[in-house]
Amino acid sequence: MNKLELLSVRKSFENFELDVGFSVKENEFISILGPSGSGKTTTLHIIAGFVNPDSGKIIKNGEDITSLPPSKRNMGIVFQDYALFPYLDVFNNIAFGLKVKGISSKEVKQKVIGIAEKMNILKIIYKHPDQLSGGEKQRVALARAMIVEPDILLMDEPLSSLDAKIRAELMEELKIFHRQTNATIVYITHDQSEAMYLSDRIILINNGKIDQVDTPIALYKRPKTSFAKAFIGKMNRLDLGGKEIYIRPEEIVIGENGELVGIIKEIVFIEGVAEIKVDMNGKEILIRELVRKVEHFKVGDKIHFSIERR
Ligand code: ATP
Repeated sequence: MNKLELLSVRKSFENFELDVGFSVKENEFISILGPSGSGKTTTLHIIAGFVNPDSGKIIKNGEDITSLPPSKRNMGIVFQDYALFPYLDVFNNIAFGLKVKGISSKEVKQKVIGIAEKMNILKIIYKHPDQLSGGEKQRVALARAMIVEPDILLMDEPLSSLDAKIRAELMEELKIFHRQTNATIVYITHDQSEAMYLSDRIILINNGKIDQVDTPIALYKRPKTSFAKAFIGKMNRLDLGGKEIYIRPEEIVIGENGELVGIIKEIVFIEGVAEIKVDMNGKEILIRELVRKVEHFKVGDKIHFSIERR
C-alpha cells in the first residue's frame, strides 16, 4: 500500500511554479533530489503541512490530509540546523514529544533510553545542545523525531552542515536505522551521492517538475532526460559518426588496441579509482579506471582507448 501520495500538487510563487505528483510506499526510503531552487523544501513543507498547496491532494494511509494542520499529521521532521531546544538536556529534548502526549514518566524513561542506545547517544544524555558536536546534535534530532513513532519521517538536508567524515558515519547509521525500524522516510538532498547511498528510490526534481523517479542504479544506468544525464554522475557527450552519444567515464576502456587516441591532460586518484582527463582532437574526455591499471601513466602520454557500453 502507498503510505503517502501527492496528487497533482501545485504551488505558485512569484517566479516559481511547483507541480508534482508521486507516491511513497510503506517502509520506503525515498529521496527528493535536485539542484538549489528546484522545489525540494517546498514539496517537503507541503507534505508536513507548513505550506498549503494551491491545488491537489495529499493522501496518507489512504486518508486525505490536505487540510490537516502539521500537528495532526503524525509526521516526524529533522532539519538541517537540528532545531533542538537549547534549554533542555538531551534526555528532555528526546522526551519532549512523549511528554506532550501525557505518557507516564516511567514509560518515557524506558523509551528515551531505548532510542538513545540505538542512536549511540546514551553517554551524552544529560548534556545540553551547546555542549554537543554537529553529529551528536543530529543524532539527538533524529531520536527526538522517531520516538513518537511517526507514520512518516521527513528529513530536510539533515547532513549538509556536517563535515565529510561525520556525514559518512551518519549516512551509514541512517541506513542501518532505516533497516531496523522500517520507517517510511522522505529525504531531501541536493547531494546525489547521499541520495544514491540511502534511497530505495529517488525522485529527481528540476525547476518545480519531476524529471525521473527511479531506483538509484536505474537513474545512473538509464537516465531518461538530458537533465538527468547531466545531473546524475559524470557523463561524456561525444559526437561519433555524426551521432551524439552519452558515455559514462567507466565505459571507456584504456588498451593498446583501442581505436580512439588522445593525450593525457590530468590524472587524479580518488580512493582506488583514477580519473583521467584526455584530450581527443580538442575534445576533453573523462575516463575512470582502477588505479592499478593506470598507475604508470603520466600527463602528456598518448593513450589508446575504446568504448565498451555496460
Ligand atoms: P535549496 O536546495 O536551495 O533549499 P529547494 O530545491 O529546496 O532549494 P525551494 O526552497 O523549494 O527549493 O524553493 C523553490 C523556489 O521557490 C525558489 O525559487 C524559492 O525562491 C521560491 N520560494 C520558496 N518559498 C517561497 C515563498 N514563501 N515565497 C516566494 N518564493 C518562494
